[in-house]
Amino acid sequence: MKKTITALFLLLSGASFASERPNIVWMFSDDHAFQAIGAYGGRFENLNLTPNIDRIAKGGMTFERAYVGNSICAPSRATLLTGKHSHINGQTSNGGSFDHDQQQFQKILQKEGYQTAMIGKIHLKGAMQGFDYWEVLPGQGKYWNPEFITANGKTTYKDEHSTDVITKRAMNWLKNDPDQEKPFMLMVHYKAPHRAWQPTTRWKEKFKAMTFPEPDTLFDNYQGRGTAANKQDMSIDITMRMSRDVKAKLPERTQELNKIDENDKKALISLKYQWYMRDYLACIAGVDENIGFLLEYLKETGLDKNTIVMYSADQGFYLGEHGWFDKRFMYEESYRTPLLAHWPGVTAAGSRNSDLVQNIDFAETFLDLAGIEAPKDMQGESLVPLLKGKTPADWRSHLYYHYYEYPAVHSVRRHEGVSGKRFKLIRYYGIDVPNGEEWEFFDLKNDPKEMTSQYDNPEYAAEIAKLKKELAKLRAQYKVVDIPQKERKK
Ligand code: CA
Repeated sequence: MKKTITALFLLLSGASFASERPNIVWMFSDDHAFQAIGAYGGRFENLNLTPNIDRIAKGGMTFERAYVGNSICAPSRATLLTGKHSHINGQTSNGGSFDHDQQQFQKILQKEGYQTAMIGKIHLKGAMQGFDYWEVLPGQGKYWNPEFITANGKTTYKDEHSTDVITKRAMNWLKNDPDQEKPFMLMVHYKAPHRAWQPTTRWKEKFKAMTFPEPDTLFDNYQGRGTAANKQDMSIDITMRMSRDVKAKLPERTQELNKIDENDKKALISLKYQWYMRDYLACIAGVDENIGFLLEYLKETGLDKNTIVMYSADQGFYLGEHGWFDKRFMYEESYRTPLLAHWPGVTAAGSRNSDLVQNIDFAETFLDLAGIEAPKDMQGESLVPLLKGKTPADWRSHLYYHYYEYPAVHSVRRHEGVSGKRFKLIRYYGIDVPNGEEWEFFDLKNDPKEMTSQYDNPEYAAEIAKLKKELAKLRAQYKVVDIPQKERKK
């Protein structure tokens, strides 16, 4: 009798499982700093910049400690698809090409009966695999008049903005393509708010006279940190271009420029910061508005009831903190990335999670959501238990990070590191010092803005030794192989 009941139960649960596997909508943008999302608080909180992304947070979970393994575009996307760190999936920098033949989560989902689609920016060269439908921007793509590539050819959307087109194309797929019998996984990847920050006209107008609070590290002089922070080339002061980046030739900006003393370096940095924020945040407002359209569509069609909606970005970004724009560093603003998830009926509304999670976890999470066991060689952990509010007792205590793109644009030195909830250890290499190495150590509790490395402070010696051991452990666990640094191009 007992056996029969068990068999019947398995049969029933199996049958209902097959028809109830959830849909997944993964929304992703390029360079969206968590500082520019209402749900994360911070200095833009009162602007109500992201009401729609905040809806995901209100209905679901906000991850407060989500990080990337390599803070730059193409590598982050390769990690997203493979669930592996850069040195394993081969995409260590923006250059080179991605090996599409390798294992990727969407190929497994497709094989297991999901319909899969990818629309927008992927920033990986070559034809996508494992998607029933894909329509992507070539490389960085264009904000205006964007061209998209599909398996069958190219289409240019004249007089349109990439953020709007990506949403329209995603909705078009949702309306016409999904086989009602199958669950789907749709990736909607915006190009915005990537440099050079070109918002749609309607949002540009709205933001054009606004003034934003400055971060208190805008005039950082990099004392207390080593060669890398001192020698980077990503500052608002020097690197940010007057015409291409901050469009100083716009009439209203020329007027503002004329009002300041051009030799007053601080005044010019402040002005460039304002221009940068107007364009960047207007791009964010456009992305958020479009996310609203997608959320509304899911609601109208009733798809929202069985669809998990997640939002993230390929890494964090500096919005003037440390005087910078761009990313790359293992410091918090670029290492951390936004992550929000709404799983109706499962994730507690308005919940916040502070476990250490990383983009190596995304692929396994998607598979787990679909009830599929992840291949053993994926390097992350499923976030499904966290989304259910049940973090495993043995959840990781530290994360591994490695940035490789040097020599290259923005001149950020190669580094790897390890971080726990409070302490962070970074090893820069290829530096012009006797053994080529420089270390930094930060106590995020006492120095959340990472202004002073405590690497030489004897009070932290025990903590530093512990993190060095942890670094060696994680290098072994993730099978880190050293990738030689290329010669600097003269
Ligand atoms: Ca990016």
